[in-house]
Amino acid sequence: MAQKKVALACSVCGSRNYTVPASPNRKVRLEVKKYCKYCGKHTLHRETR
Ligand SMILES: [Zn+2]
Repeated sequence: MAQKKVALACSVCGSRNYTVPASPNRKVRLEVKKYCKYCGKHTLHRETR
């Protein structure tokens, strides 16, 4: 069974810069600060979908 993945999109420019394994048990939307190369700084990235 393939591992499901979700994309993390920059909340500033909308680029999907990262993917993380999907967690079926987690109901809340993931939000993490990560570096966005398009913004050139750390921005808040949100789980898409
Ligand atoms: Zn960005």
